[in-house]
Amino acid sequence: MKKATQYIHAGAHPDPSTGAIMTPIYQTSTYVQEAPGVNKGYEYARSQNPTREALEEALAVIEEGKFGLAFGSGVAATDAVMKLLKPGDEVIAASDMYGGTYRLFSKIYSKFGIVFHYVDMSVIHNIETKINANTKLIWAETPTNPLMNIADIRGIAAVAQRHKVLLCVDNTFASPALQNPLSLGADIVMHSATKYLGGHSDVIQGALVMNDQALRDELYFIQKSCGAVPGPMDCFLVLRGIKTLGIRMERHCQNGAAIAHFLKAHPAVKKVYWPGFEDHPGHEVAKSQMKDFGGMISFELKLDTMEAARTLLSSTKIFSLAESLGGVESLINHPASMTHASIPREERIKNGLGDTLIRLSVGIEDADDLIADLDHAIQLAITS
Ligand SMILES: *Cc1c(COP(=O)(O)O)cnc(C)c1O
Repeated sequence: MKKATQYIHAGAHPDPSTGAIMTPIYQTSTYVQEAPGVNKGYEYARSQNPTREALEEALAVIEEGKFGLAFGSGVAATDAVMKLLKPGDEVIAASDMYGGTYRLFSKIYSKFGIVFHYVDMSVIHNIETKINANTKLIWAETPTNPLMNIADIRGIAAVAQRHKVLLCVDNTFASPALQNPLSLGADIVMHSATKYLGGHSDVIQGALVMNDQALRDELYFIQKSCGAVPGPMDCFLVLRGIKTLGIRMERHCQNGAAIAHFLKAHPAVKKVYWPGFEDHPGHEVAKSQMKDFGGMISFELKLDTMEAARTLLSSTKIFSLAESLGGVESLINHPASMTHASIPREERIKNGLGDTLIRLSVGIEDADDLIADLDHAIQLAITS
């Protein structure tokens, strides 16, 4: 089945009791048993819920994997992967990954004796030099947030396989429509379904997808034992979001390309971070592993002051100033004070994330309107 068909039909089976074409929201905590121990495969909703199962099946299909598991948030999905580890185990993670992942690793899991090495993953050699007998997991994210650095998933997977280390890729920025890490050799794909999968900024949810049955069983055991499951209503919303993922991503990519080129040509803009540019250092790798370049863009003004950045951020009318990304509406964000505020400033600057960097999540509105909105805000920023 082709992708466009999968988005609509994956996980969708007419409801056995009524024939309802859309998966019902099974808003129940428990299931009546015919006799002690005799049930229809459903006992208690932390362990099994039909709405969640339909979503998990859809997630597996669209991410080119065998098994999907849904969680109460993206960080809950990440948390489940970390629970595969034990004290003394080592993890190699991307130095410029999502701030919440960094916080989970550095503030929670390092307390439990797990050792983290943060490296620039756009250079594979950086990963190999940190691998030792205790290394159990490589945590990659590509494109990265917010600098749009690209990691070579095939290359990292080869290293992971050679050293028998698990590779988990946070695929939130690309979405399953643009990049499928399992098919490139990763063991686990993680998503913040809050973003492109849900697509409408109305739900918090996370997902894991994998191919290995034993790994799936272990992660399912963690999911039900630790209990970070999403509610059925949220599963329904993400299932609905997936139906339009393909066409939404097409428009996100078109609008993203239009805005990236507009910004690059703008005399007041110093630098634009977007992997679709031929002079982006990760462009060739991005082209080889992504179907298109997405709607996430970061940029800096030539006028490199906090004040100019602040004026720009509060002057857009269509772009809303907010954290998060991947919804149908366009958002503008200031990583230094918003999404990445949990990273110490020194660390942040060292990783190239400056005080005036601005990040856009380009929505699916009309591209001309979006460009006019940014153009107006940039004018105000450089003249005020
Ligand atoms: C939002 C996000 C997360 C965390 O997901 P939540 O659903 O907010 O818990 C992880 N990784 C990336 C890249 C994200 O954008």
